[in-house]
Amino acid sequence: MKALAIAPGQRAIGVLDLPFPERDGQVGVLVRMLEVGICGTDREIARFEYGTPPPGEPGLVIGHESLAEVIEAGPGAGLAEGDLVVTMVRRPCSDPGCRPCRAGRADFCRTGRYAERGISSRHGFMAEYVTDRPEFMIRVPAELRGVAVLTEPLTIAEKALEQVWALQRRLPWTDPAAPPQEPGRGLRAVVLGAGPVGLLGAMALLEAGFDTTVYSRSPAPNAKAAVTQAIGARYVSAEQHDLDALAAAAGPPDLVYEATGAAQAALAATRILAPNGAFVLTGVPRAQAPRLLDSSGLMRRVVLGNQVIVGTVNAGHDSYVAAVATLGRFYRRWPGELAALITGRHSLEAAAGVLTGEPSGIKDIVVLDGPVPR
Ligand SMILES: [Zn+2]
Ligand SMILES: [Zn+2]
Repeated sequence: MKALAIAPGQRAIGVLDLPFPERDGQVGVLVRMLEVGICGTDREIARFEYGTPPPGEPGLVIGHESLAEVIEAGPGAGLAEGDLVVTMVRRPCSDPGCRPCRAGRADFCRTGRYAERGISSRHGFMAEYVTDRPEFMIRVPAELRGVAVLTEPLTIAEKALEQVWALQRRLPWTDPAAPPQEPGRGLRAVVLGAGPVGLLGAMALLEAGFDTTVYSRSPAPNAKAAVTQAIGARYVSAEQHDLDALAAAAGPPDLVYEATGAAQAALAATRILAPNGAFVLTGVPRAQAPRLLDSSGLMRRVVLGNQVIVGTVNAGHDSYVAAVATLGRFYRRWPGELAALITGRHSLEAAAGVLTGEPSGIKDIVVLDGPVPR
């Protein structure tokens, strides 16, 4: 079967012919990959800045945002041929003392010795066929066939909002008169960045009732601004408006959802966070030389304003299940806007060029859709 792999030792990237994967008999699941999303992490791996092959192997098959169709499942798997599935990325560490991993929450692993499919120590999904265990696969309704490759990036918003609601139970933050499905009614959210993670986050915040503003580099009109406005959020260009102008246009946000990975710009935006506000960081910046930060200003505001800054990474099984349900609601509410997030479709052969080229559009995906083996 064909797969796209990197070999960090040789600084090589290309399509390989690999043996057909073997399914674990009783519960193992064999899937035919349909679509694989490309994100900033994949681009870093393709530049050999990141990514670790499985132990003892020279190469790593990349790709962690997937949608696949079940070809064959063991009798105990609870999945059937033809089911659509999204497979989770992270696998637990083996340390008996790692409570999150032992409790099935590898997304909170504290040893750092977890594995991630397509990122570290486990092959990823940019391959024609993949096997895994059913507890790491989430079934997707057939109606979401065209958008379910967005499930993994949506799990980031799903988990982030779970963190926010858990943290903000510390005070009377929400309006008790707000409808239960719109707990954010009367609160303001700013999303930093209008990539797929930012725009899916904006949809989640709008759905939760927040007055939502997306703050992103490029001046409108552009594709990202068009989606932002079509879903009912405000778009403010960071090239045209500084943080004070943003705060004036949107009001001081009660929640900031960072989805840029640009450390300096993100932390600067803590300056406009409202008292009692929550600031969620989801981006992973590239390593840089230390820069100046108004540390006393930051500390004063966080303490005197009872603010919380929280980081969140990856997602657990519950977040994946919730993301599939959320994606279904988005699909009914914003079918065109959701589909508009996928701006590039590429073959496996073209993927290396996309990964190493200049990013454009919103979301690039690789379409595999190989034959059903007989
Ligand atoms: Zn990703
Ligand atoms: Zn662990």
